Amino acid sequence: MATAVQPDVMMPQPYLVREVVKETSDTFTLKLEPESGGHASAFRPGQFSMLWVFGVGELPISISGDPADSAQLVYTVRSVGQATNSLVTQAVGTGIGVRGPFGTGWPVEAARGRDVILCAGGIGLAPLRPVIYEVLRHRDDYGRLVILYGARSPHDLLYRKELAAWARHRDTQVLVTVDYGGMSWRGHVGVVTTLMKYARLRPSHAVAMICGPEIMMRFVALELAGHGMASNDVYLSMERNMKCAVGFCGHCQYGPHFICKDGPVFTYEQMKPLLEKYEL
Ligand SMILES: Cc1cc2nc3c(=O)[nH]c(=O)nc-3n(C[C@H](O)[C@H](O)[C@H](O)COP(=O)(O)OP(=O)(O)OC[C@H]3O[C@@H](n4cnc5c(N)ncnc54)[C@H](O)[C@@H]3O)c2cc1C
Repeated sequence: MATAVQPDVMMPQPYLVREVVKETSDTFTLKLEPESGGHASAFRPGQFSMLWVFGVGELPISISGDPADSAQLVYTVRSVGQATNSLVTQAVGTGIGVRGPFGTGWPVEAARGRDVILCAGGIGLAPLRPVIYEVLRHRDDYGRLVILYGARSPHDLLYRKELAAWARHRDTQVLVTVDYGGMSWRGHVGVVTTLMKYARLRPSHAVAMICGPEIMMRFVALELAGHGMASNDVYLSMERNMKCAVGFCGHCQYGPHFICKDGPVFTYEQMKPLLEKYEL
């Protein structure tokens, strides 16, 4: 029997662009406030919204702001095509339609009492940033926080000031690497897995959350498994083109899962057999 779609789930809510911050040459952070002036939608770290750019289209973007900030929704967007380019070039004051939040989130509650290992590649740091805010706000509830972050070059690093600020928190280790450093870069060079040997990992006490290109997530998950982490303690955020975001249209089907409603966050245990299939 078909299930009726709740009309409000498909109805974009009106928000206004309040601020656009340039992060890198192609990546911008947008701060949106409800047009009504009320509270922004509450969300869990790892969830995403469908952002409607009027006259252009609708696209899924993860929420990258602080879950405790009820005044606004924050998104970090890399311009890769028509919709993302249009989104990042919106003027302050423009209206954007927002549906959601949708999807599962990162296991921030289940991670309480344990070390939290975050592995990000490129724009993948954006969906993990709400986890960092949560862990740092409830610092005593978690063990060590280890952030491993890789970008293409020093110019492609997101949230540079925040990375430095996070590293100053107690029991927090921030390790950054780039593919190409250039003459003035004094940090690590290489893929993100090369940082593991510098991280003080306690695999049996930890939960890991990975977000980045699929190939990067595969290798990071394999490396963590090699360090003895159980595949049920390793989580990945998957991406596929999607339209409805509520499991009806089937655009984002990945094996037996709909990325929009069963994910985007899954355990490595769930994803391992699918990641091994070529071009699924
Ligand atoms: C759950 C989820 C969360 C996301 N969160 C973010 C985010 O926080 N920040 C961000 O910048 N982007 C995010 N994305 C990706 C973003 O939705 C796509 O980049 C966007 O839809 C591309 O639209 P476009 O019209 O600009 O580009 P298009 O012209 O449609 O495509 C440009 C290029 O990007 C590729 N592409 C298009 N859509 C996707 C997709 N969904 N996943 C992977 N590659 C795609 C195309 O194959 C093509 O190579 C997320 C995607 C999903 C599914």
